[in-house]
Amino acid sequence: MFAFDDCYFKNPLLQPIDNVFVSKKNSKASAEAKAILKPILIDGSPFILNAENITKIFRIRGFWDTTSVPTSELVSCMPSGVVSSHITKVSVWRPILSSFSKKIITQQNIGNMVIMKMSGEDSDYFTAVDFSEKLLGCSCPFYTQHSSEARFLCKHLFKLIYELRNEFLTKTNIATTEWLDSLEECRKNIYADVMMANWLYYFTTNVMSQLELKAGQIVNKNVPFKI
Ligand SMILES: [Zn+2]
Repeated sequence: MFAFDDCYFKNPLLQPIDNVFVSKKNSKASAEAKAILKPILIDGSPFILNAENITKIFRIRGFWDTTSVPTSELVSCMPSGVVSSHITKVSVWRPILSSFSKKIITQQNIGNMVIMKMSGEDSDYFTAVDFSEKLLGCSCPFYTQHSSEARFLCKHLFKLIYELRNEFLTKTNIATTEWLDSLEECRKNIYADVMMANWLYYFTTNVMSQLELKAGQIVNKNVPFKI
């Protein structure tokens, strides 16, 4: 049902990032594979979004804003044991905070793959996860063009992780109720924005990370998507 020539991986939509070639900036053929510049190689293998690497991503990139929210408030809302006992202030990571305002235009499930079309600043983007192939990826410029591995979690991916929280929970052996109850507490909290952003931060580092998904590339945005 998928008909295109360059399908050399089982999943025609998402491929591991070590198969990715980026186009030369400002090239006329920038969107085409003709303008191959260099392969993106992360440690010689696909970049795995495990707890260690996700922690590294949060550390490498700035984007942390401190808030005046009491740490006791954070501890009371989050699932037990996820907040460090050494915490002195409550911060928010701006890309997570802004991910909640991203709009999903359409969503399509194909087998164990979920594709979401989201509205972006300049155009619409495709964000997808393939639970069978253990791949995650986005077509936005931040994810596809920046050279650092820190790009592997963009706002659209945070939106996808949030929307698919139940799927992520059921695919791990983590206590589902505690995380969902925690989210309800965050929603009701007077600092709801800060609490929900922190919930998604802890959810990504503690739950999503356990699936050890690989950073993938969206290779064909049009074929599988029925509009
Ligand atoms: Zn993105």
